[in-house]
Amino acid sequence: MCERVSFSCKHELNHFISNSVENLYGTRFGGGMRSWRWYLSRVMRLFLRWFRLCLRRGRRKRTNRVRDLWNYGTVLMKSLYYNALTNSDTVLDCVFEPIYWLVDNMTRWFGVVFVSLVITLTSSIVIIVYLCVLPIIFSTYPLHWILWHLCYGHWNLLMLVFHYYKAITTCPGFPPQEKSDIPTVTICKKCIVPKPARTHHCSICNRCILKMDHHCPWLNNCVGHFNHRYFFSFCMFMTMGCIYCSISAKDMFLDAYNAIESSYQTPPPSFTREEKMLHKSLVYLWVLTSSVSVALGSLTLWHAVLITRAETSVERHINNRERTRLKLRGKIFRNPYHHGILNNWRRFFGVEKRSDWLTRVLLPSAHLPHEDGLLWDCPAYRNNTVVI
Ligand SMILES: [Zn+2]
Ligand SMILES: [Zn+2]
Repeated sequence: MCERVSFSCKHELNHFISNSVENLYGTRFGGGMRSWRWYLSRVMRLFLRWFRLCLRRGRRKRTNRVRDLWNYGTVLMKSLYYNALTNSDTVLDCVFEPIYWLVDNMTRWFGVVFVSLVITLTSSIVIIVYLCVLPIIFSTYPLHWILWHLCYGHWNLLMLVFHYYKAITTCPGFPPQEKSDIPTVTICKKCIVPKPARTHHCSICNRCILKMDHHCPWLNNCVGHFNHRYFFSFCMFMTMGCIYCSISAKDMFLDAYNAIESSYQTPPPSFTREEKMLHKSLVYLWVLTSSVSVALGSLTLWHAVLITRAETSVERHINNRERTRLKLRGKIFRNPYHHGILNNWRRFFGVEKRSDWLTRVLLPSAHLPHEDGLLWDCPAYRNNTVVI
């Protein structure tokens, strides 16, 4: 609401304005004595300004301290891993290094346990075959079947033991540590030595391995160029031996199983202690050999596929990635080490003439592989058909 005020003369108007300003500022317009209100407002304003200044300074100090700590932490972190070639892979490697260390050491330690387990379980099966299965075969089977079991069983056992022993004791092959003229593909980041083609670093052995396939805890050794054949032959003869035991002892297992089941009847059949042991041993033999046949048989088949394609387990992943990359560009990837299916097997087993299939594959043989593991014959490069 606006109140209308009227003045009779100019003097009255000047007096009204002077009073209004005095009321507002507590002093007379144009200077003179200040009232206590004016002083109080000035003090309050000064106090507010000082308070705001303090707040601003405190905030700036805290921000500076946090920034200094952050910069110090960044320099500290960078001093641990940074160099000009650092990328995300290196950082991830650094982060996971303790886990790798733990897994590598555990695998190295478990390797000894696994090798002991293979020897113990295989020995237990051989003992059961000699003590329980062979006496039954001798007493119940015709002569030609007895001869077959004696010949095949012992040949399989000999091949199995020979190849396992060679697989765990043969060095997989290492690249030369000194300077040489061998063409190399890259430098190993861990060993800081040149890596020839097909060579890969094994973090468990902590060395570069020629034509590395994988590190096998069951051998406590790397599978590489010089023991790949022993490893595959061991897998093959172990699978064959398990299938043989499983099929040969099937009827005995069924009889033993029924006998154990009948022991729960009333009245229970009167089995002697030896007979009870025999039944349990036969069940153990059949269950173990059947399980290993399936598990190891699958692994052996997978390695047979890789040998047919002239690839190692490591190269399988690399080649698959390369195949996909080139496919996107409309190109076809060809494995440079592929010599054809039969030739791949020949080279793998070191077969040079036909009689070698008997002497080098079906009988124990310690011959060296076809190549030295450093230089590789690549038919695809020779024919200039590799599309890269
Ligand atoms: Zn290395
Ligand atoms: Zn290894």
